[in-house]
Amino acid sequence: MALTSLSRDAVPAWAKIDLQLHQPYRTWFGFGRLRCDWCGERWGRHGCHFRGSAARHFIATATVPQREAALLSGDINPEDLRLHRRYRPTGAHRRRPSPWPAPALGVQAAR
Ligand SMILES: [Zn+2]
Repeated sequence: MALTSLSRDAVPAWAKIDLQLHQPYRTWFGFGRLRCDWCGERWGRHGCHFRGSAARHFIATATVPQREAALLSGDINPEDLRLHRRYRPTGAHRRRPSPWPAPALGVQAAR
């Protein structure tokens, strides 16, 4: 498998596993819609929900040679490469800072 051949690797294992598990298949003897073979979700441009988020994480964390290997083996398609280009200029849905003070200081003081 191309994705696991490199020893140093920032891609989370779950992302690689999800990319392998969630594969499309056609219903109705090859005439119907594409569906996910693993979770049964409808297959969109980036696959099902799990495959889409796995592809996004893979693209965010993989090195360039890893990305090329995944493209060649078909684990990632050129459409997936655009996933990471999504950003929100307005800052909508950005995580807010926690209202609580950081616990790190208290933990160190207690030791
Ligand atoms: Zn799936």
